[in-house]
Amino acid sequence: MPIMTTIKERDPEQREFHQAVAEVLESVKPVLDRNPAYRKAAVLERITEPERVIMFRVPWMDDQEQVRVNRGFRVEMSSAIGPYKGGLRFHPSVNLGIIKFLAFEQVFKNSLTTLTLGGGKGGSDFNPKDKSENEVMRFCQSFMMELSHHIGPNTDVPAGDIGVGAREIGYLFGTYKRMRNEFTGVLTGKSIHWGGSLIRPEATGYGAVFFAAEMLATRNDTLQDKICLVSGSGNVAQYTTEKLLELGGKVVTLSDSAGYIYDEAGITAEKLAWVKRLKNYRRGRIAEYIEQFPEALYRPVDDSLHYNPLWNHKAHCAFPCATQNEINEHDANNLLANGVTLICEGANMPSTPEAVDIILAEKILYGPGKAANAGGVAVSGLEMAQNSMRLNWPAAEVEERLHQIMKSIHRTCLDAAADYGLPGNYVAGANIAGFTKVVNAMLDQGLV
Ligand code: GLU
Repeated sequence: MPIMTTIKERDPEQREFHQAVAEVLESVKPVLDRNPAYRKAAVLERITEPERVIMFRVPWMDDQEQVRVNRGFRVEMSSAIGPYKGGLRFHPSVNLGIIKFLAFEQVFKNSLTTLTLGGGKGGSDFNPKDKSENEVMRFCQSFMMELSHHIGPNTDVPAGDIGVGAREIGYLFGTYKRMRNEFTGVLTGKSIHWGGSLIRPEATGYGAVFFAAEMLATRNDTLQDKICLVSGSGNVAQYTTEKLLELGGKVVTLSDSAGYIYDEAGITAEKLAWVKRLKNYRRGRIAEYIEQFPEALYRPVDDSLHYNPLWNHKAHCAFPCATQNEINEHDANNLLANGVTLICEGANMPSTPEAVDIILAEKILYGPGKAANAGGVAVSGLEMAQNSMRLNWPAAEVEERLHQIMKSIHRTCLDAAADYGLPGNYVAGANIAGFTKVVNAMLDQGLV
């Protein structure tokens, strides 16, 4: 039976996981054809099955003294090249299929970073958005009471993702430390005052822009004066915008789950500083942007539309930095019709398979998430290195290392794609290069 059929029959409801696996399997088919040893060792069957899945009850008490129960997850997908590494997502949409797709993507992404990081992901269907500070703390404490049994600085090192930022990492770390009585680098994305790395908050967004600049350089072009559509308004979107501005780009959109803003004049550094305060401290909605900057437009999400109007503005570049499957085939066509010639993914799997096919057929510059957004986890790897040494590198040093890593990922993708007769195809390149490193490690380590 073909492996994809087996996977679907085993877990029929895990659609996002099927999607992520199908893309990788298609890319690596020529790799298996070239290396019969891989098929003999059943690497596909092994790499698509998590090494371990942990699911647990997270009971906590809300402010009305009502007991609430959420579901917690940690999927430890692959430890072939290092301890499991990957973020925690707190969002109502979280289920096992979502966490498995994210953990699967993380394996290849981490493999591309040049660092020794395995792949994992975790989270909960808890929604921090409508909760008080104390509720978030109590939830994090309860979540870590169970998770602490499964993680460790040499075993599994979680970090942030959607809904998990510096605040949540702080509460999670505090609970781990109290339970284990040890101050170790068990989480990344920590505050710089107690073991975090400079540039970690910036890393995913900065890295995505470095990757975009590398792609443009292959066509003797730069980000100077490029009009850019950015989705999202969290950590990745904020620092993507910041680096784009630094490199001469003009960002005209940002969004959240309720709607998006279009600011034709461009989101300046001052406006971005206001967005950071809004989102990171006041935890407000992007709709408030037009009260502050009335020249901009706001459009609430309209579920009756089959496309997202954010992707339907004249632009040169698009940086999806919100969430999975936020660009469908209609959006892909709209982007192309509006003159977009570069798409660089700050989010994980933001384009549907239909959208990816349309984009690849046009041969525009397309950086898939597992390559383009690897800067975040790469600097997490650097945070782990600094924790082990009990040292802190200056910001400029971390940023320079990040820059070199993104350049190396870009080169690795191009070389792997060219090696398999697909020049310029970063999707194939990222999948092939990420996969090859992991399966070679699996073969070296025997049947484990
Ligand atoms: N959640 C981020 C990602 O998708 C970062 C993971 C990490 O730093 O471990 O790669």
